[in-house]
Amino acid sequence: MPPTHEVLNQVPPLEGYDVFSADRALGEGLRREGGSWAEEQAKRLGRIAGGEAFAWGFQANAHTPVLRTHDRFGHRIDEVEYHPAWHALMKTAVEYALHALPWREERAGAHVARAAMFFTLSQAEAGHGCPISMTYAAVPALHATPEIASEWVPRITSTSYDPRMIPVAQKSGALCGMAMTEKQGGSDVRANTTRARALGAGGPGAEYEVTGHKWFCSAPMCDVFLVLAQTERGPSCFLLPRWRPDGTRNRFHLQRLKDKLGNRSNASSEVEFDGAWARLVGEEGRGVPTIIEMVNHTRLDCVIGAAAIMRHAVAQATHHARHRATFGRRLVEHPLMQNVLADLCVESEAATAAMLRLARAYDGGDERERLFARLATAVVKYWVCKRTPMHAAEALECLGGNGYVEESGLPRLYREAPLNGIWEGSGNVICLDVLRAMSHGPEVVEAFLAELAPARAAEPRLDAFVKQIERDLRDRDGLEARARSIVERLAIALAGAILVRHGEPAVAEAYVTSRLAGEHGVAFGTLPRGTAFKSIIERATPIVG
Ligand SMILES: Cc1cc2nc3c(=O)[nH]c(=O)nc-3n(C[C@H](O)[C@H](O)[C@H](O)COP(=O)(O)OP(=O)(O)OC[C@H]3O[C@@H](n4cnc5c(N)ncnc54)[C@H](O)[C@@H]3O)c2cc1C
Repeated sequence: MPPTHEVLNQVPPLEGYDVFSADRALGEGLRREGGSWAEEQAKRLGRIAGGEAFAWGFQANAHTPVLRTHDRFGHRIDEVEYHPAWHALMKTAVEYALHALPWREERAGAHVARAAMFFTLSQAEAGHGCPISMTYAAVPALHATPEIASEWVPRITSTSYDPRMIPVAQKSGALCGMAMTEKQGGSDVRANTTRARALGAGGPGAEYEVTGHKWFCSAPMCDVFLVLAQTERGPSCFLLPRWRPDGTRNRFHLQRLKDKLGNRSNASSEVEFDGAWARLVGEEGRGVPTIIEMVNHTRLDCVIGAAAIMRHAVAQATHHARHRATFGRRLVEHPLMQNVLADLCVESEAATAAMLRLARAYDGGDERERLFARLATAVVKYWVCKRTPMHAAEALECLGGNGYVEESGLPRLYREAPLNGIWEGSGNVICLDVLRAMSHGPEVVEAFLAELAPARAAEPRLDAFVKQIERDLRDRDGLEARARSIVERLAIALAGAILVRHGEPAVAEAYVTSRLAGEHGVAFGTLPRGTAFKSIIERATPIVG
């Protein structure tokens, strides 16, 4: 019998490559922002991310976590079972210290190095980044109470992944989650109804009993959580472990797991605290400022996660277009497809550059750098996350029908794309945070603008763009309703400034012409005539084999 058909014109899978080294913008950015010492490590991780971890990503999302509220005898156990692929991803992330690198290695560029590696592994699978990010971000908040920090920081910065559900004293490493959001309010955490009662005199580090619920509690198999609960003095931050000091399970009850759009490898639960044992972190009534230390770092990770989605989308789309032919030539040779791909590449490269610059601001420095981080974290979080869903949809379309099929990996990317924009402050809340930061005095805006100054001097179109933002900021009328427009342009100005100063000239020119000088439509694929389409695409295309 003759075969029914030959398989022709299908694209080889994008696998078995070094995700880090294939990304020129990432490598250049890592070196520029002070993390070059981590390059060899990042390459090793890059090979894992483009190899076995890619397969783990598919498995961990196909075999999703299962809740076990009780054992077979009826005792509450409140455990979640994960597929081995989840554990493989977590073990890799922990061994590469993606949850702890800057706290373990106090050297310049540590946040940048971590950002580059978190970005690399996230491209294989995004869901496991949630507990990794929360554990990383918890450390600055724990320092509010030194006796708690000295007990817990060594545990949660260990590079040994130990998923056993046993008291933490018997474990070689631990992970930390965060539970703020309740049914009646997420953004508005002051509306929390969960209550805490001191078991003794109370105060920082003292024991309390927490009663109430949380509507979202991701990665519930973490060993410990930072939780907000009300005391007489208002919202307060508590350290709430899964086990009590007497070796019994804490009264931390998993009600159900969320059935989510994406992020399916990661369990997100609803929990009830039935007089759960906890310790106060920081002062009573100072819960919001205490936990904000954590939230700032998770916001940085939202930027890294969203930029990683864009980069992976670009890798898939350019790879596909390089191999697939239609109407007698490869997709990448069709002028209109070149415009779409180049536009996606430019957006992704701008996100990568902004994310690494932002990470450097977390490496410390002077007061100006601290003020820059205050504003830039919210500004960049808003815009990079806002661009990601549209970017993912357009990249998916580059693969045609194959992009709509699960096996391509693009549907998972598409479902993941809105999430970083929602958690750790949804779009509007972030824009309001930018206004709040600006309202404290002129220094924050000055620090931000100082960052743009050298590029403004070199690029008149950037200068004109920023002058308009300055005029809009001076006009206080209806500022709240205009916040998105202002924050969006601040983000574009920052990315433009970084590209003008340090970027590949063709990419910088395309970004400035389209995003700052207005020669761009609403959809991707509307770059103006004269753009260096080919070189922009070639720079971003991963070469496999
Ligand atoms: C997959 C997933 C996992 C999560 N995991 C966790 C977790 O582990 N721990 C945790 O604590 N939380 C978690 N969350 C919750 C998340 O942080 C909240 O959903 C988010 O902060 C938004 O809060 P909300 O859902 O209550 O929405 P709301 O606060 O009701 O906001 C709804 C919308 O209104 C907008 N809005 C709110 N206030 C204003 C205003 N003043 N002006 C204009 N617009 C406004 C918001 O931007 C948003 O778009 C998770 C969420 C998801 C989706």
